[in-house]
Amino acid sequence: MARKRKLDLNKYKQTLEEKRAEIAENIKRLEGESSGRDRLSREVAQQDFEGGGDAALQAMTRSQNAAMSGNLRNMLITIDQARQSIEEGTYGICEVCGKNIPKKRLEALPEATMCTKCHTEVGPR
Ligand SMILES: [Zn+2]
Repeated sequence: MARKRKLDLNKYKQTLEEKRAEIAENIKRLEGESSGRDRLSREVAQQDFEGGGDAALQAMTRSQNAAMSGNLRNMLITIDQARQSIEEGTYGICEVCGKNIPKKRLEALPEATMCTKCHTEVGPR
């Protein structure tokens, strides 16, 4: 079991909330683009796309958007898990080995729920 350390939880909490809001906004935008044809066509026109491949381009953009919003949704889940662990008082402790996640890693990746070693071994979930 990891020794309790003093972490500035409010700071991480705030960073996570900001990140979460930003990602939620991106998902909304991506999914709005996928369903809203008008906006997409406008953007295609803005890119001065030389006719012919519009439909293909739109299909490509849609599937890229779907993949991207899928990734973003996973990030949201991870962020929510980190926020939950703040509430539970387990934030900053690796969920695999139970050791403290280095502060430096938390600074760079506040939603991290695993230490670098476990993340490399287990891979992202
Ligand atoms: Zn670990």
